[in-house]
This record gives sequence, structure tokens and C-alpha cells, in this order.
Amino acid sequence: MANEQDTQQYTFQAEIRQLLHLLSHSLYQNREITLRELISNASDALDKYRYHLLTSSGESAEDLQIRLEPDKENRVLVIRDNGIGMSHDELIANLGTIARSGSLEFLRKAKEQQEHSDSLSLIGQFGVGFYSSFMLADRVEVISRGADSDQTWRWESTGDGTFTLSEVEEQSERGTSIRLHLKKDLDEFTDPVRLKYIVRKYSTFVPHPVLVEEEHINNQPPIWLEPRASVTEEQYQNFYEYLTHFPGQKPIWKLHLAADSPFQFHSILYCPETNLEKMGFGRTDHGLHLCARRILVQNDNRDLLPDYLRFLRGIVDSADLPLNVSREALQDNTVFRKMRTVITRKVLDQLDKLAEKEPEQFAKFYREFGMIFREGVTGSDGNRDRVAELLRFTSTTTAGTDDLVSLKQYCERAAEGQEQIYYVCGTDRQSVLQDPNLEVFRKRGLEVLVLTDPADEYVLSSLATWSEKTIISVDAADLKLPPADGSDSDSDDASDTEKSAATNSEGFEKLIAVFSETLGERVREVRRSARLTESDCCLVNAEGSMSTTMQRILRMNTPEFEMQKMVLELNPDSTLVKRLSELVSDDANADFIQQCALQLHANAMIQAGLAPNGNEMASRLQSFMLQLAGQK
Ligand code: ADP
Repeated sequence: MANEQDTQQYTFQAEIRQLLHLLSHSLYQNREITLRELISNASDALDKYRYHLLTSSGESAEDLQIRLEPDKENRVLVIRDNGIGMSHDELIANLGTIARSGSLEFLRKAKEQQEHSDSLSLIGQFGVGFYSSFMLADRVEVISRGADSDQTWRWESTGDGTFTLSEVEEQSERGTSIRLHLKKDLDEFTDPVRLKYIVRKYSTFVPHPVLVEEEHINNQPPIWLEPRASVTEEQYQNFYEYLTHFPGQKPIWKLHLAADSPFQFHSILYCPETNLEKMGFGRTDHGLHLCARRILVQNDNRDLLPDYLRFLRGIVDSADLPLNVSREALQDNTVFRKMRTVITRKVLDQLDKLAEKEPEQFAKFYREFGMIFREGVTGSDGNRDRVAELLRFTSTTTAGTDDLVSLKQYCERAAEGQEQIYYVCGTDRQSVLQDPNLEVFRKRGLEVLVLTDPADEYVLSSLATWSEKTIISVDAADLKLPPADGSDSDSDDASDTEKSAATNSEGFEKLIAVFSETLGERVREVRRSARLTESDCCLVNAEGSMSTTMQRILRMNTPEFEMQKMVLELNPDSTLVKRLSELVSDDANADFIQQCALQLHANAMIQAGLAPNGNEMASRLQSFMLQLAGQK
């Protein structure tokens, strides 16, 4: 034993102090997961040791195991592994700081919803695994010897802000022992029967033997190597929980793959129920488990799937992969690259099947992961069209936000002669539906995709066309409407507009000239509208310019960005415009017409989600009111 002077004291990083406080005071009921976290850490340490031995000396490791050693009398539970171990500095770095930003995110979230058990069940996801020991113990010792070291160190803490380190003089085994000095009332964790039950429940698939009283508890065969028909739903579910550390969550779908040629691999992939990125956790840093001949090579491989499928969890095991190569070398491996292509194709097949056979499940998937999946349209892996086929949107025809339409369905129900796919953007469905640009579509019964997420517009603009139809925003100048059906007396097509406009054509032309002159640099052009049926006017984008939403986003990010000038379209049939077309012939009305031009332009800006000059508008409205009140 080292004497007092040799004991060094350290302070935890501030975030860990908060985390420990949260964990040790949490009312969290499910304390069993602490064991799962510690066993999972031990298993990682065994994998690391095996890998280390193989790459440094070519030898394979023997007798790797994890032991749970309960000591009823002293109320202590030890979790012991003979893995890679930790040196003095590693103990400080690994058990004194949170290296990964994910943990800090977790902490922030968990604080927001302290009592929310869901967020606490995510503990294992964010690398706070070890610290969950303080839910079980009021004092924790970690005794560890690194694989190539002859020094053993003891880390100790009561979870109150500091920890100590001291050297242990007697020779101990390679690896790590976590000694949990159990809290009051937690004696159950020294009961072997209870421990066996917990290991079976949470750690069945740990790839190393877990022993309680010399009994090997987790002796399950690896289910991914079994034929599909012999794997039970319960086994699939248990394996999912083992991979994700999500107790009780069910995957939306799963895929069990096996291939023999041209190369051999087995895989089980799951689509989780919850999108952690959507919950604000940022990109989670877990990928797939990659095994070569059942031996885990990486537990966070992110190169086996394209980025737009990064939310999938699972395992890929291949006999054709080299065991001892670096991550970088693996990416260049031909088998590895082909495997990625095959797996991606199988996942897309699975999604096609789901969309066709179980549209509700597919919609559930899309609502959760569509925001990630749609990125595939901009990817370069050759699956752009397949991803596009699986995109879903709401539209002016769909019922609310739960009903979704695909581009294919949209095209199938498009009007005869319709050459374009129309979309409208805005911040929420309610205000988007008020957009005056939509009037003619409503009147003509033409479906318009409603995009309330700017990323959807980005996806559609990068897709540009679908099934030979150009995808276009309703406020674009080069919008083309299908020829109207002449037999439909209700339809308000371009020729109707021409006709009615012809009645006061002269006045209307003059009005356009006065508006143009008054608005000057504020607009690119003022012209007659063929798309409005009720509103007085609207702003549209000139041919070839970016959509308004896109410009707004650019503007937000780069203040120097200048919005492109827009075209103001006037509706010759609106009551106000008709009246102004009459008034414009009398020069005495010149000032009033000019004020109207400015105000109508400001109104159109507001409707397009843009901000007109508030001061100018206020004084203009003030003078309108004065005029109405009979004061000039
Ligand atoms: P995570 O396991 O998610 O990284 P933890 O807080 O549980 O987060 O553990 C932090 C680090 O401590 C691990 O990444 C690992 O490097 C180290 N560690 C934990 N337990 C062990 C162990 N039994 N043997 C060796 N290293 C360990």
C-alpha cells in the first residue's frame, strides 16, 4: 500500500462535477444499467487488448473475461476485467474529464428535463457510462494496470468533486477492477442470483464471457451468423437493446443480411425509433459494429454506410476483411468498399419495400429520419434517384402535416399537360397557405408541395427535375401553368385574364407605368399578373434568380448579401387595381397613386416574408388615415 504522501488529489472537470451531482441525486429507478455500462466498458477494454496484442506481436489473446465478484459482508461489488487497463495519465484523462462533446450535450439536455427518464436512459450513448457507478455506490475505487506496464494505480472518489490517485505496491493482474462500495439499501447488488439476472437481461451479447460465481452467463451464439428463421423476435430485440443501450425501445424496422459471394458477410441493421440528432444531441458518434470473423474491429464504424444513413445501428461481420489494419487502410480495402455498396443498396431496397407494403411504418420512419435521409439526394454515391423516389412532402392537397406525398404520386395526379412540379416555401403551413402566389393553383385545382423546412427547398433545387418535370417555386418568373380545360367554366385561365384586363387596358397600362416609376430601384419590373385571382399584387422572382427563401437564408448568414430585385405583379381584376386604373387618368390623383404603389409593394413584401421599411410605412399609413379623416 502506498502511504498518505503518495496520494495525489485531483479535481474533476466542472462538467463532471455537475454530471455526478445529477447522477447521484437522480431519482432514476433503473439502476441496473450501471452494470451494463461497466460491463460494456470492460468488454471494450478486452477488445482493445486483443487488438493491441495482435497488431504488436501477432499473438492472439487467451482467457479474456469479465468477472462480477460480490462481497456481501463488506457490501462491495467488483467488476474485474483483464483488458487493456489504464496508466496513471489515462486514469486522469479518462475518468476525470469528459472528452467528447456528446456528453456535454447530454448534460445540458438532462438538466433541462431532470426527471425525464428517457434522457437518463440515454446515458450510455454519450460516454458518461463509467460515471453512472455513482448511482450505485457512494465510493468507487478503480484499480488498473496498463497492458505493457508494471505499475498498478488506484483511482478513488466519493463523487463529490475530487478524486485521488495512488500507486498500489503489490503486483496485480493486467486490466481493471471497478470496486463499487454500495449505497445504503442496495445490497441486492451483492446477490449472485440478481446479478445473473441482470447480466442475462442487458449483456447477453457481450462478445466476452461474463462470469458470476464461475458461471458463464452470456453464452449466446452470435445471432447475426444464424439463419434468419432460427432467430426469435426476442433475440432480435435483445440484440438491439445491447447495441443501442435503449432499454424498452423498439426499432422501426430491421434487416438481417447474409451473403456468400463474391465476398462473405453477415449483418443485422436496425432503424431506431428516435432520431437523436432531432432531439438536439448533435451528430451522435456511434456507427456500426464491424467484426472480422466475429472479432470486433471497431464499434463505431462510420464508413460502411453513406452519411445519409448514419442513423442506422447494427453489426457487420465479414470473413473477408483483414483483422489488423488501421481504420484508414480499411477504407481503401476493395472488399470493404464493395460491402458498403451492397449494404446501401439493401437498405434502399428495404425502404422501397416498407414504402410499398407498410406505408404507415414508412411515414413514421420518414417523419423521424427524413431530415437526414433526404441529404442522399445531394450525395455522389449513385443513389440519388432512388433516394429522390423515397422523399416525402406535405402539399396543398394532403391533409395536414401527417399525410405525405411522394414525387411519384405527385406526378401521377398532376394535371394534363403539367410540365412542372410546383412548391411553395415558408415558415409554417398556416401562413404558407395564405401566399397570394397560390391563388391560381387553388382555383385551378393544381397541387403544390408545401415546404416549411428550408432544407427541403435546398434538396428540391439540387434535384432540379423529376421524371422530366422541372421542379419550380410558385414565385418563380418562369412558372408555366398547364393549358386550362376550356370546358370548365369556373377556370380562370390566362385568356380570361386577358379578356377582363382588356376592359380597362389603357388605364391599367398607365398604372403599371406610374408604379414602375414610383418604385424605381426597389423592383426589377412591374407587370401584369396571370397568377393572381383575388389579391391585388405579389412579388415573384425574376427568371434565373434564387428563390426568396434561399435568399433570406443567405441574408441571415451573410449580412452583405444583397437580395435580388423582384418583380411586382399586379392583378388587373382586383377591385383596388381596377379602381386605381380609373383614377390614374386624372393627374390630381398622382400623389395618392404613388403612395398606393409604395404601400402595395410593402404589403407584397410582408406576404413574401420580407421586411419593408417600418418607419416609411408607418408615416404613409398615417397620411392615408388623415386623408380618410378628411384632412389633407
Ligand atoms: P465511454 O466508455 O463511453 O468512452 P466512460 O465514461 O464509460 O465513457 O469511460 C471513459 C473511458 O475510460 C473509456 O473510453 C475508456 O478509455 C476508459 N475506461 C473505462 N472503463 C475501462 C476499463 N474497464 N478498462 C480500460 N479502460 C476503461
